[in-house]
Amino acid sequence: MKRLVILGGGESGVGTALLGKAKGFEVFVSDKGKIKDKYKDVLVKNEIEWEEAQHTESKILNADVVMKSPGIPDKAPLVKQLVENGVSVISEIEFAAQFTTATIVGITGSNGKTTTASLAYHILNQEINVGLAGNIGDSFAKQVLEDDFKNYVLEISSFQLDGVVDFNPDIAVITNITPDHLDRYNYNFEEYIASKFRIAMNQTKDDYLIYDADDDVLVDWLEKHPVQSKLLPFSLVKKIENGAYLDKENIKITIDNNQIIMPTKDLALEGKHNIKNAMAASTVAHLLKIRKQTIRESLENFQGVEHRLEHVLKINKVQYINDSKATNVNATYYALESMSAPTVWIVGGVDKGNGYQELYPFVNTKVKAIICLGVDNEKLLENFSNMVDVIVETQFMSEAVKIAYKIAEAGDNVLLSPACASFDLFENYEERGRQFKDAVRNL
Ligand code: ADP
Repeated sequence: MKRLVILGGGESGVGTALLGKAKGFEVFVSDKGKIKDKYKDVLVKNEIEWEEAQHTESKILNADVVMKSPGIPDKAPLVKQLVENGVSVISEIEFAAQFTTATIVGITGSNGKTTTASLAYHILNQEINVGLAGNIGDSFAKQVLEDDFKNYVLEISSFQLDGVVDFNPDIAVITNITPDHLDRYNYNFEEYIASKFRIAMNQTKDDYLIYDADDDVLVDWLEKHPVQSKLLPFSLVKKIENGAYLDKENIKITIDNNQIIMPTKDLALEGKHNIKNAMAASTVAHLLKIRKQTIRESLENFQGVEHRLEHVLKINKVQYINDSKATNVNATYYALESMSAPTVWIVGGVDKGNGYQELYPFVNTKVKAIICLGVDNEKLLENFSNMVDVIVETQFMSEAVKIAYKIAEAGDNVLLSPACASFDLFENYEERGRQFKDAVRNL
């Protein structure tokens, strides 16, 4: 019996444990922190051995294969030791993909993964048997075991991709590549780009790669490191013969001379970035032979994803928008760009080495006041103090929202788009977004 050791007892770890056990592995789950009760219950019920608050090396180093949770860096001493010993250390995606013959759509990128994956799933789900997994919802491994879908849309982070060996999506999407998580890549942008492109490294000429042709980083890399797959680019600025582009007010998607046309005014989601996400998701759907009418209707009635430019409430004709998931400057760039009214902007948190220059044009023209919500706001004050009449600081969401309420006038927007991580004042971006929504509802 082969021994499968799982490092990290979260959603992907426990899912892998269940699948591994069902496939005949001897399974051991080890978490250096605490395992949530709901996961412990599953492990106990399924008679899977586990430990928490420690890694017992004698029970780990004898593994045949190790599944590492994406949160654990490759640099962790135990992981290094396993690799040195020649043990295969893989991700959940790699492990679970071995046990399904489903058609797989893998979506990666720096921003827009969740939106594009959710949108693609929403369209496909109208007509075909499909699961949504990866960084979203129930783990891929659990779904392979319990649901056995015929198709999967997987949202895949670079950390998951670092742990793939043979994983080969039939359709890969790279939404864009901007610097993020560089602390995990030796502060080397190239290492991070290479990690994203692992999504296509096993693809053959029968597979597809959908990508943003307006992203210079991505296009340069692709020119220097060609892939085997058929390329389906999308663009907002140039005509694309095979792929998707914006022709005035219409999205046009062509695959082998078969074209879908979709007016952008009918899209449920706002913002240029969402036109790109819609192009990527619809190209996937077009490839999988979803009817054109279904694609168009699905793009019109998509409800959006929580914490991504989410319209919360209109109070006194002021629209409150929750974009808490904007944890980097690029995401906030698109949020500000999409603002069509004067905006009171709530920003701040843990700075990831941000440069704010690219936001200057929007701040100059669209932002009437800035509320800095963070422990350390120095950089924001430095960058923007001269640009707006009002810039204030607070460490409380409720206060930030009250200040915004006082400043905003009929027709304005109040936008939470932090451009920073949330860990100084909140547990995570979801908690930050929820606090924003609660504060707005309590006005
Ligand atoms: P991810 O899963 O890659 O983090 P999300 O879809 O959750 O991406 O979106 C994260 C943030 O980035 C949100 O603030 C959202 O408004 C913004 N965003 C969404 N799509 C894009 C895109 N294509 N390019 C840039 N920013 C985007």
